[in-house]
Amino acid sequence: MLSKSDKILAWYDQNRRHLPWRSPPGVRANPYHVWLSEIMLQQTTVVTVKPYFEYFLSIWPNIKVLAIAPLDDVLHAWQGLGYYARARNLHKCANFIASEYNGLFPEDEKNLLELPGIGPYTAAAITAIAFGKKATPVDGNIERVVARLFAVTEPIPKSKIKLHELACAMTPDERAGDYAQALMDIGATICMPKKPVCSLCPLSGECKAEVKGNAGNLPNRVPKKKKPTRVGTIFWLSNDKGEILLRRRPEKGLLGGMVELPSSDWQENSLTQKKTFFDAPEKIIWKILPGRVRHTFTHFHLELEIATGQCIKPELIKGIWSNASDFGNYALPTVMKKVVAHALKYKD
Ligand code: SF4
Repeated sequence: MLSKSDKILAWYDQNRRHLPWRSPPGVRANPYHVWLSEIMLQQTTVVTVKPYFEYFLSIWPNIKVLAIAPLDDVLHAWQGLGYYARARNLHKCANFIASEYNGLFPEDEKNLLELPGIGPYTAAAITAIAFGKKATPVDGNIERVVARLFAVTEPIPKSKIKLHELACAMTPDERAGDYAQALMDIGATICMPKKPVCSLCPLSGECKAEVKGNAGNLPNRVPKKKKPTRVGTIFWLSNDKGEILLRRRPEKGLLGGMVELPSSDWQENSLTQKKTFFDAPEKIIWKILPGRVRHTFTHFHLELEIATGQCIKPELIKGIWSNASDFGNYALPTVMKKVVAHALKYKD
């Protein structure tokens, strides 16, 4: 009798997705490709990632070349993928591997876990897919498949350890990389969140949720807390040449190292002008534009008002002066692109 992993692998041999970072059947994948794709795929869909992955490879075909690229170029190329901490860690990790491992990825899961931006899922994915060693990457898709297969009703995140153990217990000694990619494919194309297509699934017949008829309701999840809303003021400061002041955010923290328009702190309380203008780059009369810019980050919603003003002493101001038409030269995060579009629409 075939085991679950035998069935999963047999299905994979016939139905695997063709993705630009995957190697042909029987060929070991390039660790650089696996790593790059897995970092990009965190919080992002395959469809979105494909062109970014191909673009990155065309400019930085290996990790040594990526390591010596200016961080700004990497952030710039990352624009649109969001969660920029991933791009900064990608660059940091490339530097580390280039300097400490002579550009070769360590093959051990434990060593991989010590690298910047590499968590348990990515470390296991690289170990299994690129090095053919036994390891089990478990992300949301795989948790869903396993929760249904074993009809685990305990909600996520409480059940995470149990789901991980169940996935590990099924992992075969050979072809752990194909097994991991097969589960990824089943989760993405068959065992989908709302409507699993059990008739196409290699696990049909031995899936407990399928038998019970509650697959579409699993996994259970603890309801998410409502996101708070923060507010802030953006300062659109012009000099006498019509250039606008930009600045770079600190390396650490949200949108670290990215270029932005100067801003007040983003607070959960409502805006008070006294507090807001304390953070302004210059003590001048500011004019508030109509409307607000709204953006949602992972943990909070943000509402920004925009204040415009004419700089009196540009020589005292630290930052980057740029024409708005040249903003494309800088790695501006999406929220700042929204701010620029709003300001250009409403100012004057
Ligand atoms: S049989 Fe259905 S519910 Fe079970 S793993 Fe396959 S697609 Fe998901």
